[in-house]
Amino acid sequence: MADIIQLLPDHVANQIAAGEVVQRPASVVKELLENAIDAEATHIQLLIKDAGKTLIQVSDDGKGMSETDARLCFERHATSKIKMAEDLFQLKTKGFRGEALASIAAIAHVGLKSKQEEQEVGTEIKINGTKVESQEPCVTQKGTVVSVKNLFFNIPARRNFLKSNAVETRHIIDEFQRVALAHPQIAFSLHHNGSEIFQLPSTNHRQRIVNIFGAKTNEKLVPVEEETEILNVQGFVGKPEFAKRTKGEQFFFVNDRFIKSPYLNHAVTAAFEGLLKEKTYPSYFLYLNIDPKRIDINIHPTKTEIKFDDEHALYAILRSAIKHSLGQFNVAPVLDFERDANLDTPYSYKEKQAEHPIVEVDRNFNPFESEMKFSSSSSTSAKTSSSKSNFQPSFSKKNEGSWEALYTEFDSSKPEADFSNVEFESEEVTGSLFEDEKKSESGNTFQLQKKYIISSLKSGLLVIDQHRAHTRILYEDLLKSITVKAAISQQLLFPLILQYSKQETAMLRELKDSLEQTGFVFARIENHEVEIKGIPNLISESEVSILLDQLLSDFENEIPESGFKQTDLLAKSLAKSMAIKTGAVLDTVEQIAIVNGLFACKEPDVTPSNRKVFVTLAVDELEKKFM
Ligand code: ADP
Ligand code: MG
Repeated sequence: MADIIQLLPDHVANQIAAGEVVQRPASVVKELLENAIDAEATHIQLLIKDAGKTLIQVSDDGKGMSETDARLCFERHATSKIKMAEDLFQLKTKGFRGEALASIAAIAHVGLKSKQEEQEVGTEIKINGTKVESQEPCVTQKGTVVSVKNLFFNIPARRNFLKSNAVETRHIIDEFQRVALAHPQIAFSLHHNGSEIFQLPSTNHRQRIVNIFGAKTNEKLVPVEEETEILNVQGFVGKPEFAKRTKGEQFFFVNDRFIKSPYLNHAVTAAFEGLLKEKTYPSYFLYLNIDPKRIDINIHPTKTEIKFDDEHALYAILRSAIKHSLGQFNVAPVLDFERDANLDTPYSYKEKQAEHPIVEVDRNFNPFESEMKFSSSSSTSAKTSSSKSNFQPSFSKKNEGSWEALYTEFDSSKPEADFSNVEFESEEVTGSLFEDEKKSESGNTFQLQKKYIISSLKSGLLVIDQHRAHTRILYEDLLKSITVKAAISQQLLFPLILQYSKQETAMLRELKDSLEQTGFVFARIENHEVEIKGIPNLISESEVSILLDQLLSDFENEIPESGFKQTDLLAKSLAKSMAIKTGAVLDTVEQIAIVNGLFACKEPDVTPSNRKVFVTLAVDELEKKFM
């Protein structure tokens, strides 16, 4: 039989390699930035158009390339960074595989201009899908400019596979941040479609972190430093109380290269043991320096995974270094979960020891009187309302003095409560409950465990999860305000000024119109600062920052692909933050408002994230239980 094996032509081999190296525009960004760093640039500019789909351009002031090198760099396995296999174990550069430019040139229209310091003129090369179109002398600055246009122009399947511009931009920003965090001494800038996203001057690690993530980050950082024989660690971890609900700000750098390592991540998490609230993740920016002999970076084409020769030692060192820092900077003892918990449960009755006055105020309170006023909303509460809760649903006012509140309080097992006083009131409660049975169906609700609202139905019993129900109600309301009719806003006496990272303000700018429909009024959204003049009726000023933080992290986690999804995600996130929480004591007015509000919804059965809102217990089921 004839021989059938052939060597693949270069352009095919390059396209295959490109499949591994270039997954999306962000991969090109990473390779080009790394080349500029390897060329010892001090200023690197990244310019993208249409999320990198149309153009990715990196300009550097590095050492540039000779005429011959400028041509050779596009060949496969063409590199100036290693010469022999042994070099792989003493790498000081980002690149070494010599395949990035060859791969990129195989799947895009690439232009390169480069000039070395001592050269009079530079070289310009144009190359389309591996084919060199032209090479000419050109006038250019010292350094290199690489432009990558129309990525995947010759692989439609790949091009169509790209995500929305929002998603691809996000990936680019992630890569940019990783590289910029690893090299604070180099100045970086990023422009997208003509507008500046980052302008980062040369600085130190801490300041670079702050420049990227916003001024408020500074106070959250705890320095970590440890020198051992096998490893030096330095960097920062975020104070536990600022732990985020997303894993966004977690960075390991090994010898100035961003890497992913679930194992080392575990070491960090272990150091935070007992200090974090559930489902929160600590921020960290950790720079590890290890003798290149001890690591192998060549286990993955994108070079984000590393093999260490002694992982266990690394784990132990890292964990103890962080533990030590958290202890030394007194982070652990000043931890104040209470403060946060309070914000989470705005209706929380933690200071409700002062119950005597309430009982006294209401000694002569007539439940029947209040019963009649339920429908006309909050006139009963007018005389007793002394709520400190700043997260009130608009449909009701806190009615601390009413018998219902007493009843729930009585239930909630407060040992200090004065039972002799309460008993008298609660007798009345029981009495009136029996009365209620005969009256209106909807007036008959009570709260269980500060979590459920129990209401009777003709056919049985209804158990509603209060938080989920309110989330559903708010979600539908918010969707309506965003899409149909703007919600009412409350003017703030003094504008609220909040600080964010540039990326976060960019996100807020994108969401501004929708947020304004829900009642927010933004006076300005600048690079690192947002001024808010008005907020939705349903929230209080102190809740704004928590709510927006949650919103930003929701949008960081899940980038909506369409306008509709964006609205939906916004409504979901706000509804979740604004809804009354489990643990909130609700008076009857509030309970009823929730029951009625819920059943006025289009989809009362489930929360916006598809979780059950209520269960029913039919009378016949009950009867079976008594058999
Ligand atoms: P690698 O970085 O792995 O060597 P690349 O394909 O990324 O492979 O680059 C090939 C070669 O081109 C590099 O080794 C380097 O000599 C040269 N080169 C690439 N980009 C630049 C740049 N911005 N400035 C100077 N030289 C560069
Ligand atoms: Mg490279």
